[in-house]
Amino acid sequence: SKLEVIRNFCIIAHIDHGKSTLADRILEICEAVPKQKMREQFMDQMDLEREKGITIKAKAIRLRYFSKRFQKEFIFNLIDTPGHVDFSYEVSRSLAACEGALLVVDATQGVEAQTYAHASLAIAQKLTIIPVINKIDLPASAPERAKEEIEHILGKEHPPFFLVSAKTGAGVEELLDAIVQYIPPPQAKSDAHLRALIFDSSYDSYRGVLLFVRIFDGSVKRGDRIRVFSTGAEFEVTEVGIFNPKMQPTELLEAGSVGYLACNMKNIRDARVGDTLVSASDPQPQPIPGYKKVKPMVFCNFYPVQSEDYQRLKDALEKLQLNDAALSFEPDFSEALGFGFSCGFLGLLHMEITQERIEREFGVEVVATAPHVVYHVLTTRGDVVEVKSPKDFPSPTEIEETEEPYVLIQIITPPEYIGGIMELCQARRGIFKDMVYLDAERVLIKYEMPLAEILLDFYSRLKALSRGFASMDYEFAGYRPANLVRVDILVNRDRVDGLSFICCKEQAYHRARQVVSQLKEIIPRQLFAVAIQASIGGKVIAREDIPALRKDVLQKCYGGDVTRKRKLLEKQKEGKKRMKAIGKVRIPQEAFLAVLKSG
Ligand code: GDP
Ligand code: MG
Repeated sequence: SKLEVIRNFCIIAHIDHGKSTLADRILEICEAVPKQKMREQFMDQMDLEREKGITIKAKAIRLRYFSKRFQKEFIFNLIDTPGHVDFSYEVSRSLAACEGALLVVDATQGVEAQTYAHASLAIAQKLTIIPVINKIDLPASAPERAKEEIEHILGKEHPPFFLVSAKTGAGVEELLDAIVQYIPPPQAKSDAHLRALIFDSSYDSYRGVLLFVRIFDGSVKRGDRIRVFSTGAEFEVTEVGIFNPKMQPTELLEAGSVGYLACNMKNIRDARVGDTLVSASDPQPQPIPGYKKVKPMVFCNFYPVQSEDYQRLKDALEKLQLNDAALSFEPDFSEALGFGFSCGFLGLLHMEITQERIEREFGVEVVATAPHVVYHVLTTRGDVVEVKSPKDFPSPTEIEETEEPYVLIQIITPPEYIGGIMELCQARRGIFKDMVYLDAERVLIKYEMPLAEILLDFYSRLKALSRGFASMDYEFAGYRPANLVRVDILVNRDRVDGLSFICCKEQAYHRARQVVSQLKEIIPRQLFAVAIQASIGGKVIAREDIPALRKDVLQKCYGGDVTRKRKLLEKQKEGKKRMKAIGKVRIPQEAFLAVLKSG
């Protein structure tokens, strides 16, 4: 049948292990992109993605591969997956669209945390996993070691190992034949009602929302009426097509295939990744399992540096949201920082990317408060409140109980750093879960830990204490009771609500002292003395003073040269570029991130 020649697969790897480079080699062999147009890393299209070295959104490419070995042409659908932990749900949906995966491991590095996390997702989806050992051209490559580590994850039952250099192309054609040989063709019922998995989406100003779909059963063509399973909303299909690698309309998308579909949908929230499209005439539609509505896990507030920029900031967020179903925002008012937005993200990277895009693509400078998690508070009145901004956290007398989100983190490290890592995890309220040696040189450690503790420069600490060798990944593990308080920061007795933070009671005193002394370093000296205080429920628990600057600066002028005096004062006023005036005190952006640094 037609399905016999189709192979749907993706490439999974830890960051920098060569996923994009391998995809480029595959595209080249299949001549999907004319040589002159072939720029490196075709699949990483967004500039920012290229700069950060990550792929944010899954995309799919249809390739024709003529196998010399089998003397036959095959159709490959290569589905790109996001490489970062923030997007692991999207990874799992991309995997669900495939029958197989290439698990790429850098032979000079071995198995890392994302190798483990992605492989676990692929195993859970029951995919055929072909282990690929990359960068064999490098003298430091140690393929035997990598094999042992991979086998620890995959077990013994898997297709043979393939040794390649994605850079030189060595071994890549053999790998393509292995895709043909080991990854099964899709099994699908062509004559059944439509069942299509949405594994990605994107907004197009002409066609509306484009849904990237894997057709499991039936087929879909222009004019068909479809229904979004979870919402029941119906649409008429206006276009179907494939990525060749550019979008190319086709007559029909058939069972087993991968492509895109447009249906005059205006909002990407109307059909979420992981949802199923069914035929509107299907009396008993069956969804493809695994759908969940992702919720933002990390929040922070954005305020425009110039308050006139409020509307432009709003426009920027709205435009970004067109293409980003996971981004949420609502208006917020801060006594200290004015009008802005409380924004929700999948994780820290998602947050960083969004802020950078607002500044770069829309030219709006923002002050961002420190990222934080969503807390659950049971008040003495018996209400349960979801607190998305520390400044909204009730005062101690109004709180009955509090809960905070926990994650399961997986760290892979050489054994010599185990001690340091366990100390770090314990200091961050981690609960030890498991430790497994993958081989003599790699250990997998699992801890459960409050998500808030990871936002607190956990990753950079882990990297520093393992000299860069440890890697980590995490997944949400649910809400747990916690004993939390809100610490307020006062600058010359004005509460700066954007600096408030929440932490567990036992750490409050210590954290308050740290933050206050950090702020003393960060806030430039002013023409008057500035008192920085931390308080809980109105009670001051820490204080530092920034002495006035004026005298020292002016003394250097020997009282004589008036223009020099003015210049100096002006320069001082300018200070660091991005400042927010709080009363008379100008506070730099870094100050708002001070709560993220720990001593
Ligand atoms: P990704 O993050 O998994 O997409 O990794 P990339 O494909 O961006 O590769 C990361 C880095 O490794 C880039 O500098 C590549 O040029 C390099 N690289 C990838 N494959 C090979 C290889 O086979 N040999 C060598 N020497 N370098 C490679
Ligand atoms: Mg890449």
